Amino acid sequence: MSENASLHADVLVLGAGPGGYTAAFRAADLGKKVVLVERYPTLGGVCLNVGCIPSKALLHSAQIIHETAESANTGVRFAPPEIDLDKVRDHKNKVVKTLTMGLAAMARQRGVTVIQGLGRFVTDRSLAVSSAEGERTVTFDHAIIAVGSQPVKIPGFPHDDPRLIDSTGALELADIPARLLIVGGGIIGLEMATIYHALGSAITVVELMDQLIPGCDADLVKPLHQRVKKWYENIHLKTRVTRIEARAEGLEVFFEGEGAPASAVFDKVLVAVGRRPNGLGIGAEQAGVQVDERGFIPVDRQQRTNVPHIFAIGDVVGNPMLAHKATHEAKVAAEVIAGHKSAFQALTIPSVAYTDPELAWMGLTETQARAQGIAVETATFPWAASGRALGIGRREGLTKIIVDPETHRILGAGMVGPNAGELIGEAVLALEMGADVADIALTIHPHPTLSETFAFAAEMVEGTITDLYLKK
Ligand code: NAD
Repeated sequence: MSENASLHADVLVLGAGPGGYTAAFRAADLGKKVVLVERYPTLGGVCLNVGCIPSKALLHSAQIIHETAESANTGVRFAPPEIDLDKVRDHKNKVVKTLTMGLAAMARQRGVTVIQGLGRFVTDRSLAVSSAEGERTVTFDHAIIAVGSQPVKIPGFPHDDPRLIDSTGALELADIPARLLIVGGGIIGLEMATIYHALGSAITVVELMDQLIPGCDADLVKPLHQRVKKWYENIHLKTRVTRIEARAEGLEVFFEGEGAPASAVFDKVLVAVGRRPNGLGIGAEQAGVQVDERGFIPVDRQQRTNVPHIFAIGDVVGNPMLAHKATHEAKVAAEVIAGHKSAFQALTIPSVAYTDPELAWMGLTETQARAQGIAVETATFPWAASGRALGIGRREGLTKIIVDPETHRILGAGMVGPNAGELIGEAVLALEMGADVADIALTIHPHPTLSETFAFAAEMVEGTITDLYLKK
């Protein structure tokens, strides 16, 4: 690449995660000349390379390990699994490679120019891209910033020690530590706990708040907590890590708080205490784009920053930091640039923890309703009354529905149990369509399925349920 090689784009997209590649592809499909700039050699960002996708590939192995172990309860006994860690890692890597190669192929098919290198705005119409081969300038009519987020680091921890890892390090699956401490009982922490426990680590989780997955209603988290409590060495709530000291035999960790134990030594420590946006350090100020002190870039409902021809999407514009939010915002940005009257108008963004059991929720939670003084009526169908749940040996599940007490319109829902992440889609659709409980209860759900439990919860509100006896 020569120093002064320059390129012009109708639409420049900075960052090729789910937000960035979706924006680039949609803009190209709308007839724009698109340049997509990505610092890493593969497309797909955190989600495809070191996040959602590899973790789900590993969680599949964890699920098989759990199911085969529990299958003895139903009379089918398997020998304990033999784990070929190289092969487990290969499977995960192959899944990632298939998808990232697919993205590269789709970029070519659409005529999207992909440039590898680190991008920094030079002006509000140009971006410098630097790589090992030199620097190159891309000028643009419109830009979409999709630079994502990175794991929060706790100051003072020995971050250079290879035994202190973040989610990326955990997904590398370098080894199976005998004792693994997970700092942060949120989604990443508990998904990684699921994987490493299944592969043989003794797990300790330390969480600052008074429950695991603090964003979700406590009654839905309880079945998950009760199941993992039996598996893990320790779960310390209302506790934080104050200090980590590197020793030859491991990392010595010191705790503080209500549930704080004495200091202990772990072979590895995974820190999963949230992510922070990457808005600082991309030269946004050179383009006049406002970035707040945390690194978030404020946007309007059309994903426009304060600079009218520069847009931003995904983790860098705000929480929740989820791929499915980024992809929707991406389409809005690309369409607005192409002159469509699009806006981000989703009523809810569902959350899923792919733990065992899975935990999924959407819309208003009961905790939020209480905090905001919103009157709600709720009903929770216990999976212990579902033939299908009993058949798969998973009676701990729950399906909860949260409705307006006057209109019976759905305001929120949550599920805990196997496949909750799949089941929540129906609740999201119901909310988006303005459904009330009668709509849900009168929709014939196939029997016997876990999906029925959503209709049963609606019937509980309606007073028409016959699969349970509710006292009048
Ligand atoms: P999170 O916010 O879900 O959880 C972090 C947890 O750490 C919280 O429960 C918090 O109370 C706790 N915490 C914070 N500081 C602490 C401290 N000093 N000591 C102990 N606990 C502390 O964040 P995450 O799990 O790191 O995930 C980051 C982001 O990635 C989230 O936005 C999440 O939605 C997203 N993500 C989503 C999925 C998914 O959709 N399945 C999977 C992984 C990550």
